[in-house]
Amino acid sequence: MLTVKDLKDIKGKVAVVRVDFNVPLKGGEIRDDNRIVAALPTLQELIGKGARLVLLSHLGKISYKLSDEEIEAAKAKNNLAPVAVRLGELLGQPVDFCPVTRGPELEEKVKNLKDGGVLLVQNTRYEKGEEKNDPEIAKIWADLADLYVMDAFGSAHRAHASTYGIPSILKEEGKPVAIGYLVEKEVSALTRCVDVSDSDRPYVAILGGFKVSDKIKVIDSLLKKCDKILIGGAMAYTFIKAQGGKTGNSPVEDDQLDYARKCLEEAKGRILLPRDSVVANGFEDWTDKKTVPSDQIPDGYQGLDVGPETIKEYSEVVKGAKMVFWNGPLGVFEQDAFQKGTIAICEAVKEIPDAFTVCGGGDSAAAIKQFGYSDDFSHVSTGGGASLEMIENDGHLPGIDIVR
Ligand code: AMP
Repeated sequence: MLTVKDLKDIKGKVAVVRVDFNVPLKGGEIRDDNRIVAALPTLQELIGKGARLVLLSHLGKISYKLSDEEIEAAKAKNNLAPVAVRLGELLGQPVDFCPVTRGPELEEKVKNLKDGGVLLVQNTRYEKGEEKNDPEIAKIWADLADLYVMDAFGSAHRAHASTYGIPSILKEEGKPVAIGYLVEKEVSALTRCVDVSDSDRPYVAILGGFKVSDKIKVIDSLLKKCDKILIGGAMAYTFIKAQGGKTGNSPVEDDQLDYARKCLEEAKGRILLPRDSVVANGFEDWTDKKTVPSDQIPDGYQGLDVGPETIKEYSEVVKGAKMVFWNGPLGVFEQDAFQKGTIAICEAVKEIPDAFTVCGGGDSAAAIKQFGYSDDFSHVSTGGGASLEMIENDGHLPGIDIVR
């Protein structure tokens, strides 16, 4: 796969770069600029080589099933303009912004770019055809480009016009397509988690979060690769009920009980379930909490975190690992009373600095950031959905395969 580093003689060439600037905005203010910062190495490399940068990104959601008025309101809310300002500050050079996604104004702005100049185009989802990989808009954007760079890992699991349509067209035209530094780092870390070498064993996966049904494919895939899978979070109770345990009012997906049984059978002891749980008589408005065996949760109580025995057992397993892949918090980490399980995993990872440890993004990345452990992981993915799909699909994602 070609990377930005390999691109030669691109001075004066128009590089269309798909970045992930899907930042949290409130009233037009950027609340967290991590994603903009993460794109800088690739952008600086291209600027240094004298390319003319046209940046494309989506921002938020725009549903075209709504009324015209609602669509306009969603567009106003998801306007990328503030990102151009912040990017300019971070790059230390002006960044031009094009408020439209096609037409003469865009063409003019691209024509006016100087070598090393940067233009950010309005939210790709202003185009109805973006998410459908509509060939018309893909061609409009591809026609602006002499080359294409994919650096939006968080969007690489989606075959949209900006992530799939453009590179397909450019490849047919014989133009260079490459990945950026951010995608290169993600691919290298997550490929290691799917093509497991002997030196990375024992390989331990930790899966938590809410639903088993969201994680079926990833469980299937990890069962083929891991030495142990530690299960926590709400999804644990579906497994515990499948084994005949009493789960009280814990959230259980009854339609996944057969699947959970099948996994436990296939795993032959490699899946570990929480022995004990911290339970409460409510989710947010609880008045009583206690620790009980996970298969003896009283009626009226629900499991909200793993208990101390589980913490001890899971921590030991993690500390013995050479490689760890983690997705999903072990408890309701948003509440102080149910953070211990998730923090214990962070602590165990901190104690194995020589192991290769990957946090799969999404809620678990938010949790480790909140608790201050991000630097203790070898890799923290920037794409929750994309990293899960990469594991599920044995290292393949449409937006990355197309630039191979
Ligand atoms: P997911 O998006 O599937 O990774 O789920 C993350 C969410 O699951 C977080 O908001 C957690 O608060 C929640 N969660 C984790 N453990 C539990 C639990 N035992 N009961 C209810 N929610 C949980």
